[in-house]
Amino acid sequence: MISKKIEEIKLLMQYAVPEKERGAAQALLEKFNNDRIALNLFHSFYSFLPEGLDDSISKILLVHRKEGAFLLCAITGIDNYLYLVTHEMAEFLGRRDEGIWEDKVLHFFGFKSREDCIENISSLSNLPTYRPAHTDEDLCPICFAATDEFHTLGCPVEICPWCDGQLTACDCRFTMAGKDKLKNDADLDGLLEQLNKKGRVPFDAKSQRPSFPKQEEKK
Ligand SMILES: [Zn+2]
Ligand SMILES: [Zn+2]
Repeated sequence: MISKKIEEIKLLMQYAVPEKERGAAQALLEKFNNDRIALNLFHSFYSFLPEGLDDSISKILLVHRKEGAFLLCAITGIDNYLYLVTHEMAEFLGRRDEGIWEDKVLHFFGFKSREDCIENISSLSNLPTYRPAHTDEDLCPICFAATDEFHTLGCPVEICPWCDGQLTACDCRFTMAGKDKLKNDADLDGLLEQLNKKGRVPFDAKSQRPSFPKQEEKK
């Protein structure tokens, strides 16, 4: 899956990246070739170039991270752009100097308004460089929720609050929803309601990160 995505990005880059930026752009892709978050960002950027002009990403900055959703700033040859990225998708939000337009996204990341957001990210030097999410020992290795945050529903690391098993593997989700199969959004909403009533088990790096606290694999 990941190698297919990288091949697609490389192909897109052949058309999108200006000649003189090619080496640096490829080096950056190489650096993140195991990171689904950055790869989703690259894929979105090189598929739909914000200005419709040849361009490349030279650096990725981390603006915010919450419950597996990353607010990233892509520094490119032309401008800086904001993206909302999860392990499943990347969504283009707009130019950094214009901030975030969608109220839902603004409020999710704790900005009071678009102006508040613009002010918060007006200085690039205040924003840390984004590091591959899977190397962060405090995040769920699959959905990237942090300790005490809830997993993305469907994450195989989430523990079942009814039987302490793996929520995506035990039968509790069918029993509780009263269904043989969970096949649509309404079924999932029903399950989520039952889960919230019971109390979902948030991510905990100490007990749920399979490799914790090993560090050897990082390098
Ligand atoms: Zn997770
Ligand atoms: Zn269960």
